[in-house]
Amino acid sequence: MRVYADNAATTKMSIKAIDAMLPYLNIIYGNPSGLYEEGRRAREAVDDARNRIGNHFRCSGKEIIFTSGGSEADTQAVITAAATGEKSGKKHIISTAFEHHAVLNALESLKTRGFEITLIDIPEDGIVKPGQIQKALREDTCMVSVMYANNEIGTIQPISEIGKICREHNVLFHTDAVQAAGHINIDVVRDNVDMMSISAHKFHGPKGAGALYMRKGIRASRVIFGGAQERGRRAGTENVPAIMGMAAALDEACEHMEINAERTVRLRNRLIDRLSEVPHSILNGSLISRLPGNVSFSFEAVEGETMLILLDQKGICASSGSACASGSIDPSHVITALGRPHEIALGTLRLTIGEETTEKEIDYIIDAVKGTVETIRSCSPVWRELQAGRRDYVLK
Ligand SMILES: *Cc1c(COP(=O)(O)O)cnc(C)c1O
Repeated sequence: MRVYADNAATTKMSIKAIDAMLPYLNIIYGNPSGLYEEGRRAREAVDDARNRIGNHFRCSGKEIIFTSGGSEADTQAVITAAATGEKSGKKHIISTAFEHHAVLNALESLKTRGFEITLIDIPEDGIVKPGQIQKALREDTCMVSVMYANNEIGTIQPISEIGKICREHNVLFHTDAVQAAGHINIDVVRDNVDMMSISAHKFHGPKGAGALYMRKGIRASRVIFGGAQERGRRAGTENVPAIMGMAAALDEACEHMEINAERTVRLRNRLIDRLSEVPHSILNGSLISRLPGNVSFSFEAVEGETMLILLDQKGICASSGSACASGSIDPSHVITALGRPHEIALGTLRLTIGEETTEKEIDYIIDAVKGTVETIRSCSPVWRELQAGRRDYVLK
Protein backbone atom coordinates (compact mmCIF):
# COMPACT_ATOMS: atom_id res chain seq x y z
CA MET A 1 0.00 0.00 0.00
CA ARG A 2 1.24 3.50 -0.86
CA VAL A 3 -0.20 6.45 1.06
CA TYR A 4 0.44 9.94 -0.24
CA ALA A 5 0.68 12.43 2.62
CA ASP A 6 2.81 15.16 1.07
CA ASN A 7 0.19 17.37 -0.56
CA ALA A 8 1.99 20.53 0.55
CA ALA A 9 4.90 19.52 -1.68
CA THR A 10 2.69 18.87 -4.67
CA THR A 11 -0.68 17.34 -5.51
CA LYS A 12 -1.96 14.79 -7.97
CA MET A 13 -3.64 16.45 -10.95
CA SER A 14 -7.39 16.20 -11.04
CA ILE A 15 -9.05 14.50 -14.02
CA LYS A 16 -10.92 17.72 -14.80
CA ALA A 17 -7.65 19.66 -14.93
CA ILE A 18 -6.10 17.06 -17.25
CA ASP A 19 -9.17 17.07 -19.49
CA ALA A 20 -9.10 20.85 -19.66
CA MET A 21 -5.49 20.78 -20.85
CA LEU A 22 -5.71 18.11 -23.52
CA PRO A 23 -7.33 20.06 -26.39
CA TYR A 24 -4.71 22.78 -26.04
CA LEU A 25 -1.84 20.36 -26.58
CA ASN A 26 -2.66 19.31 -30.13
CA ILE A 27 -5.97 20.74 -31.32
CA ILE A 28 -6.14 24.37 -30.24
CA TYR A 29 -2.36 24.70 -30.25
CA GLY A 30 -2.04 28.13 -31.83
CA ASN A 31 0.15 30.84 -30.35
CA PRO A 32 -2.17 33.26 -28.52
CA SER A 33 -0.30 36.12 -30.17
CA GLY A 34 -1.20 34.77 -33.64
CA LEU A 35 -3.52 36.92 -35.75
CA TYR A 36 -5.40 33.95 -37.20
CA GLU A 37 -8.31 31.81 -36.04
CA GLU A 38 -6.13 29.22 -34.19
CA GLY A 39 -4.30 31.96 -32.32
CA ARG A 40 -7.49 33.81 -31.49
CA ARG A 41 -9.05 30.67 -30.03
CA ALA A 42 -6.03 30.13 -27.78
CA ARG A 43 -6.11 33.80 -26.77
CA GLU A 44 -9.82 33.61 -25.91
CA ALA A 45 -9.23 30.49 -23.84
CA VAL A 46 -6.37 32.11 -21.90
CA ASP A 47 -8.42 35.23 -21.22
CA ASP A 48 -11.39 33.16 -20.09
CA ALA A 49 -9.09 31.26 -17.69
CA ARG A 50 -7.70 34.59 -16.50
CA ASN A 51 -11.15 35.95 -15.70
CA ARG A 52 -12.24 32.79 -13.93
CA ILE A 53 -9.10 32.78 -11.79
CA GLY A 54 -9.58 36.48 -10.99
CA ASN A 55 -13.20 35.81 -9.99
CA HIS A 56 -12.19 33.25 -7.40
CA PHE A 57 -10.09 35.86 -5.61
CA ARG A 58 -12.44 38.78 -6.34
CA CYS A 59 -10.13 40.64 -8.66
CA SER A 60 -10.23 41.41 -12.36
CA GLY A 61 -8.65 39.06 -14.89
CA LYS A 62 -6.57 42.04 -16.00
CA GLU A 63 -4.88 41.96 -12.62
CA ILE A 64 -3.67 38.38 -13.12
CA ILE A 65 -0.18 37.77 -14.55
CA PHE A 66 0.54 34.18 -15.54
CA THR A 67 3.93 32.89 -14.43
CA SER A 68 5.87 29.62 -14.40
CA GLY A 69 4.79 28.97 -10.82
CA GLY A 70 4.89 30.22 -7.27
CA SER A 71 8.62 30.91 -7.18
CA GLU A 72 8.46 33.20 -10.20
CA ALA A 73 5.39 35.00 -8.85
CA ASP A 74 7.13 35.60 -5.51
CA THR A 75 10.25 36.83 -7.28
CA GLN A 76 8.30 39.23 -9.47
CA ALA A 77 6.40 40.62 -6.49
CA VAL A 78 9.62 41.32 -4.60
CA ILE A 79 11.39 42.83 -7.62
CA THR A 80 8.38 45.00 -8.39
CA ALA A 81 8.18 46.33 -4.85
CA ALA A 82 11.91 47.03 -4.85
CA ALA A 83 11.67 49.06 -8.07
CA THR A 84 8.73 51.02 -6.67
CA GLY A 85 10.66 51.65 -3.46
CA GLU A 86 13.79 52.77 -5.26
CA LYS A 87 11.81 55.38 -7.15
CA SER A 88 10.70 57.03 -3.92
CA GLY A 89 13.93 56.40 -2.00
CA LYS A 90 12.30 53.80 0.26
CA LYS A 91 14.58 50.84 0.73
CA HIS A 92 13.25 48.95 3.72
CA ILE A 93 11.24 45.74 3.40
CA ILE A 94 9.44 43.76 6.10
CA SER A 95 8.85 40.04 5.82
CA THR A 96 8.89 37.08 8.18
CA ALA A 97 11.42 34.50 9.27
CA PHE A 98 9.32 31.58 8.00
CA GLU A 99 8.61 32.60 4.41
CA HIS A 100 9.25 30.27 1.50
CA HIS A 101 12.78 30.52 0.10
CA ALA A 102 11.41 32.08 -3.08
CA VAL A 103 10.60 35.18 -1.02
CA LEU A 104 13.57 34.97 1.37
CA ASN A 105 16.16 34.54 -1.37
CA ALA A 106 14.61 37.23 -3.57
CA LEU A 107 14.80 39.60 -0.60
CA GLU A 108 18.38 38.54 0.08
CA SER A 109 19.31 39.50 -3.49
CA LEU A 110 18.15 43.06 -2.81
CA LYS A 111 20.75 43.65 -0.13
CA THR A 112 23.39 44.37 -2.79
CA ARG A 113 21.08 47.14 -4.03
CA GLY A 114 21.13 48.75 -0.60
CA PHE A 115 17.87 47.37 0.77
CA GLU A 116 17.42 46.66 4.45
CA ILE A 117 15.31 43.63 5.28
CA THR A 118 13.51 43.13 8.59
CA LEU A 119 12.38 39.55 9.18
CA ILE A 120 9.68 39.34 11.84
CA ASP A 121 10.15 36.70 14.57
CA ILE A 122 7.55 33.95 14.61
CA PRO A 123 5.58 33.48 17.85
CA GLU A 124 5.39 29.94 19.18
CA ASP A 125 1.86 29.43 17.81
CA GLY A 126 3.17 30.07 14.28
CA ILE A 127 0.99 33.14 13.75
CA VAL A 128 2.49 36.55 13.04
CA LYS A 129 0.70 39.25 15.03
CA PRO A 130 -0.41 42.40 13.17
CA GLY A 131 1.16 44.47 15.98
CA GLN A 132 4.56 43.05 15.08
CA ILE A 133 4.20 44.42 11.56
CA GLN A 134 2.91 47.76 12.84
CA LYS A 135 5.95 48.07 15.11
CA ALA A 136 8.44 47.21 12.36
CA LEU A 137 7.09 49.82 9.90
CA ARG A 138 9.42 52.73 9.14
CA GLU A 139 9.23 55.91 7.08
CA ASP A 140 11.26 54.16 4.38
CA THR A 141 9.33 50.87 4.28
CA CYS A 142 8.22 50.11 0.72
CA MET A 143 6.86 46.59 1.10
CA VAL A 144 5.53 44.03 3.52
CA SER A 145 5.44 40.37 2.47
CA VAL A 146 3.70 37.84 4.73
CA MET A 147 2.62 34.42 3.52
CA TYR A 148 -1.08 33.54 3.66
CA ALA A 149 -0.43 30.12 5.16
CA ASN A 150 2.86 28.49 6.02
CA ASN A 151 3.91 25.51 3.93
CA GLU A 152 5.49 23.54 6.77
CA ILE A 153 3.26 24.10 9.77
CA GLY A 154 0.08 25.15 7.97
CA THR A 155 -0.70 28.16 10.14
CA ILE A 156 -2.96 30.76 8.54
CA GLN A 157 -1.87 34.37 9.02
CA PRO A 158 -4.10 37.38 9.84
CA ILE A 159 -3.68 38.67 6.28
CA SER A 160 -6.64 41.04 6.24
CA GLU A 161 -5.49 42.86 9.39
CA ILE A 162 -1.88 43.07 8.20
CA GLY A 163 -3.12 44.31 4.82
CA LYS A 164 -5.17 47.01 6.53
CA ILE A 165 -2.12 48.29 8.39
CA CYS A 166 -0.12 48.37 5.15
CA ARG A 167 -2.89 50.22 3.32
CA GLU A 168 -3.08 52.82 6.09
CA HIS A 169 0.66 53.41 5.78
CA ASN A 170 0.69 53.35 2.00
CA VAL A 171 3.04 50.36 1.90
CA LEU A 172 2.76 47.64 -0.77
CA PHE A 173 1.50 44.36 0.65
CA HIS A 174 2.37 41.03 -0.92
CA THR A 175 1.21 37.63 0.26
CA ASP A 176 2.49 34.24 -0.87
CA ALA A 177 -0.82 32.39 -1.02
CA VAL A 178 0.57 29.28 -2.67
CA GLN A 179 -0.53 26.99 0.18
CA ALA A 180 -3.83 28.76 0.76
CA ALA A 181 -5.25 29.15 -2.75
CA GLY A 182 -7.89 26.55 -3.54
CA HIS A 183 -7.95 25.38 0.07
CA ILE A 184 -9.32 28.33 2.04
CA ASN A 185 -11.34 31.36 1.01
CA ILE A 186 -9.29 34.29 -0.28
CA ASP A 187 -10.63 37.71 -1.22
CA VAL A 188 -8.00 40.28 -2.23
CA VAL A 189 -10.42 43.14 -1.53
CA ARG A 190 -11.38 41.96 1.97
CA ASP A 191 -7.75 41.07 2.64
CA ASN A 192 -6.30 44.43 1.46
CA VAL A 193 -3.75 42.63 -0.69
CA ASP A 194 -1.75 44.39 -3.44
CA MET A 195 0.12 41.38 -4.79
CA MET A 196 -0.48 37.67 -4.32
CA SER A 197 1.27 34.53 -5.57
CA ILE A 198 -0.41 31.23 -6.40
CA SER A 199 0.82 27.96 -7.90
CA ALA A 200 -1.33 25.43 -9.77
CA HIS A 201 0.39 22.24 -8.61
CA LYS A 202 -0.60 22.91 -5.00
CA PHE A 203 -4.29 22.62 -5.85
CA HIS A 204 -4.37 19.67 -8.26
CA GLY A 205 -3.29 21.64 -11.32
CA PRO A 206 -0.15 21.15 -13.42
CA LYS A 207 3.40 21.90 -12.28
CA GLY A 208 5.13 24.87 -13.85
CA ALA A 209 2.08 27.13 -13.83
CA GLY A 210 1.24 29.90 -11.44
CA ALA A 211 0.03 33.46 -11.27
CA LEU A 212 0.73 36.76 -9.63
CA TYR A 213 -2.20 38.98 -8.78
CA MET A 214 -1.08 42.57 -9.10
CA ARG A 215 -3.55 45.26 -8.12
CA LYS A 216 -4.46 47.72 -10.86
CA GLY A 217 -2.16 50.74 -10.82
CA ILE A 218 0.98 48.93 -9.70
CA ARG A 219 3.72 49.02 -12.30
CA ALA A 220 5.08 45.50 -12.75
CA SER A 221 8.82 45.01 -13.05
CA ARG A 222 9.96 42.35 -15.44
CA VAL A 223 11.89 39.31 -14.38
CA ILE A 224 11.63 37.59 -17.77
CA PHE A 225 12.65 39.65 -20.80
CA GLY A 226 11.24 39.18 -24.27
CA GLY A 227 7.97 39.97 -25.97
CA ALA A 228 4.99 41.97 -24.78
CA GLN A 229 2.88 39.06 -23.50
CA GLU A 230 0.80 39.55 -20.33
CA ARG A 231 0.40 43.24 -21.26
CA GLY A 232 4.14 43.72 -21.14
CA ARG A 233 4.38 42.36 -17.61
CA ARG A 234 5.79 38.88 -18.32
CA ALA A 235 7.43 37.82 -21.56
CA GLY A 236 7.25 34.40 -23.14
CA THR A 237 4.61 32.48 -25.06
CA GLU A 238 1.80 31.66 -22.66
CA ASN A 239 1.75 28.07 -21.41
CA VAL A 240 -1.78 27.66 -22.72
CA PRO A 241 -2.42 24.02 -21.70
CA ALA A 242 -1.08 24.62 -18.18
CA ILE A 243 -3.09 27.81 -17.80
CA MET A 244 -6.26 25.93 -18.80
CA GLY A 245 -5.38 23.16 -16.34
CA MET A 246 -4.78 25.66 -13.57
CA ALA A 247 -8.12 27.41 -14.14
CA ALA A 248 -10.02 24.12 -14.20
CA ALA A 249 -8.28 22.89 -11.05
CA LEU A 250 -9.07 26.12 -9.25
CA ASP A 251 -12.72 26.06 -10.39
CA GLU A 252 -13.03 22.57 -8.98
CA ALA A 253 -11.19 23.33 -5.75
CA CYS A 254 -13.29 26.43 -5.09
CA GLU A 255 -16.55 24.71 -5.94
CA HIS A 256 -15.96 21.99 -3.34
CA MET A 257 -13.91 24.04 -0.91
CA GLU A 258 -16.21 23.90 2.10
CA ILE A 259 -17.06 20.24 1.82
CA ASN A 260 -13.41 19.30 1.18
CA ALA A 261 -12.20 21.35 4.13
CA GLU A 262 -14.78 19.89 6.51
CA ARG A 263 -13.85 16.34 5.63
CA THR A 264 -10.11 16.95 5.61
CA VAL A 265 -10.20 18.76 8.97
CA ARG A 266 -12.04 15.82 10.53
CA LEU A 267 -9.41 13.34 9.32
CA ARG A 268 -6.58 15.68 10.19
CA ASN A 269 -7.85 16.16 13.74
CA ARG A 270 -7.96 12.43 14.22
CA LEU A 271 -4.36 12.21 13.05
CA ILE A 272 -3.33 15.02 15.40
CA ASP A 273 -5.22 13.55 18.37
CA ARG A 274 -3.65 10.15 17.97
CA LEU A 275 -0.11 11.38 17.28
CA SER A 276 -0.35 13.62 20.36
CA GLU A 277 -0.35 10.36 22.35
CA VAL A 278 3.30 9.85 21.44
CA PRO A 279 5.27 10.84 24.55
CA HIS A 280 7.71 13.75 24.27
CA SER A 281 6.28 15.13 21.05
CA ILE A 282 4.74 18.45 20.13
CA LEU A 283 2.38 19.74 17.45
CA ASN A 284 3.98 22.60 15.53
CA GLY A 285 1.71 25.61 15.02
CA SER A 286 -1.72 26.59 16.25
CA LEU A 287 -4.46 24.00 16.00
CA ILE A 288 -7.08 26.66 15.45
CA SER A 289 -5.80 28.80 12.58
CA ARG A 290 -4.50 26.00 10.42
CA LEU A 291 -4.83 24.71 6.87
CA PRO A 292 -7.26 21.78 6.69
CA GLY A 293 -4.70 19.18 5.60
CA ASN A 294 -1.62 20.05 7.66
CA VAL A 295 -0.12 17.99 10.48
CA SER A 296 3.36 18.85 11.76
CA PHE A 297 4.93 17.20 14.78
CA SER A 298 8.38 17.30 16.32
CA PHE A 299 9.50 14.20 18.23
CA GLU A 300 12.28 14.20 20.77
CA ALA A 301 15.23 11.85 20.12
CA VAL A 302 14.06 11.05 16.59
CA GLU A 303 15.96 11.94 13.45
CA GLY A 304 13.55 13.19 10.80
CA GLU A 305 15.36 11.87 7.76
CA THR A 306 15.53 8.39 9.27
CA MET A 307 11.82 8.57 9.99
CA LEU A 308 11.11 9.47 6.34
CA ILE A 309 13.13 6.53 5.04
CA LEU A 310 11.38 4.06 7.37
CA LEU A 311 7.96 5.54 6.55
CA ASP A 312 8.72 5.25 2.84
CA GLN A 313 9.46 1.56 3.42
CA LYS A 314 6.02 1.29 4.95
CA GLY A 315 4.56 2.98 1.88
CA ILE A 316 4.05 6.45 3.29
CA CYS A 317 5.12 9.64 1.50
CA ALA A 318 5.82 12.34 4.07
CA SER A 319 8.23 15.19 4.57
CA SER A 320 10.51 16.35 7.33
CA GLY A 321 9.98 20.01 6.59
CA SER A 322 10.00 21.71 3.25
CA ALA A 323 10.88 19.60 0.23
CA CYS A 324 13.57 22.13 -0.60
CA ALA A 325 15.27 21.62 2.77
CA SER A 326 15.37 17.84 2.48
CA GLY A 327 18.68 16.33 1.57
CA SER A 328 20.46 18.80 3.80
CA ILE A 329 21.02 18.14 7.48
CA ASP A 330 20.23 21.70 8.48
CA PRO A 331 16.96 21.80 10.35
CA SER A 332 14.08 23.62 8.71
CA HIS A 333 14.19 27.42 9.11
CA VAL A 334 10.47 27.32 9.83
CA ILE A 335 10.70 25.00 12.81
CA THR A 336 13.70 26.82 14.26
CA ALA A 337 11.83 30.11 13.77
CA LEU A 338 9.22 28.76 16.21
CA GLY A 339 11.99 28.69 18.81
CA ARG A 340 12.49 24.94 18.80
CA PRO A 341 16.06 23.86 19.58
CA HIS A 342 18.16 22.42 16.76
CA GLU A 343 17.82 18.76 17.80
CA ILE A 344 14.05 19.02 18.19
CA ALA A 345 13.68 20.77 14.83
CA LEU A 346 15.56 17.86 13.24
CA GLY A 347 12.90 15.48 14.54
CA THR A 348 10.08 17.06 12.59
CA LEU A 349 7.51 15.21 10.50
CA ARG A 350 5.07 16.94 8.15
CA LEU A 351 2.06 14.99 6.93
CA THR A 352 -0.21 16.85 4.53
CA ILE A 353 -3.38 15.05 3.61
CA GLY A 354 -5.88 15.92 0.89
CA GLU A 355 -9.33 15.31 -0.53
CA GLU A 356 -8.38 11.81 -1.57
CA THR A 357 -7.06 10.66 1.79
CA THR A 358 -9.22 7.92 3.33
CA GLU A 359 -9.97 7.03 6.96
CA LYS A 360 -8.18 3.74 6.43
CA GLU A 361 -5.07 5.58 5.32
CA ILE A 362 -5.23 7.83 8.37
CA ASP A 363 -5.30 4.80 10.66
CA TYR A 364 -2.44 3.23 8.72
CA ILE A 365 -0.38 6.43 9.08
CA ILE A 366 -1.06 6.59 12.84
CA ASP A 367 0.19 3.04 13.40
CA ALA A 368 3.16 3.46 11.09
CA VAL A 369 4.32 6.74 12.65
CA LYS A 370 3.93 5.46 16.21
CA GLY A 371 5.81 2.28 15.35
CA THR A 372 8.56 4.17 13.55
CA VAL A 373 9.12 6.58 16.43
CA GLU A 374 9.43 3.61 18.78
CA THR A 375 11.84 1.81 16.47
CA ILE A 376 14.10 4.84 16.11
CA ARG A 377 14.05 5.61 19.81
CA SER A 378 14.83 2.02 20.71
CA CYS A 379 18.21 2.37 18.98
CA SER A 380 18.88 5.96 20.03
CA PRO A 381 21.64 6.60 22.61
CA VAL A 382 20.02 9.97 23.34
CA TRP A 383 16.71 8.30 24.12
CA ARG A 384 18.46 5.85 26.45
CA GLU A 385 20.04 8.74 28.37
CA LEU A 386 16.71 10.54 28.60
CA GLN A 387 15.00 7.40 29.85
CA ALA A 388 17.73 6.78 32.40
CA GLY A 389 17.34 10.31 33.71
CA ARG A 390 20.90 11.29 32.80
CA ARG A 391 19.53 14.01 30.56
CA ASP A 392 16.48 16.32 30.68
CA TYR A 393 13.70 16.09 28.17
CA VAL A 394 13.14 19.22 26.07
CA LEU A 395 9.58 18.16 25.25
CA LYS A 396 7.68 17.22 28.37
C1 LIG B 1 5.43 25.44 -3.35
C2 LIG B 1 5.54 26.80 -2.81
C3 LIG B 1 6.15 27.83 -3.55
C4 LIG B 1 6.81 27.58 -4.88
O1 LIG B 1 5.90 27.29 -5.89
P1 LIG B 1 6.44 26.59 -7.24
O2 LIG B 1 5.25 26.64 -8.15
O3 LIG B 1 6.82 25.20 -6.86
O4 LIG B 1 7.57 27.41 -7.73
C5 LIG B 1 6.18 29.09 -3.02
N1 LIG B 1 5.64 29.35 -1.82
C6 LIG B 1 5.05 28.41 -1.07
C7 LIG B 1 4.44 28.76 0.23
C8 LIG B 1 4.98 27.10 -1.54
O5 LIG B 1 4.41 26.16 -0.80
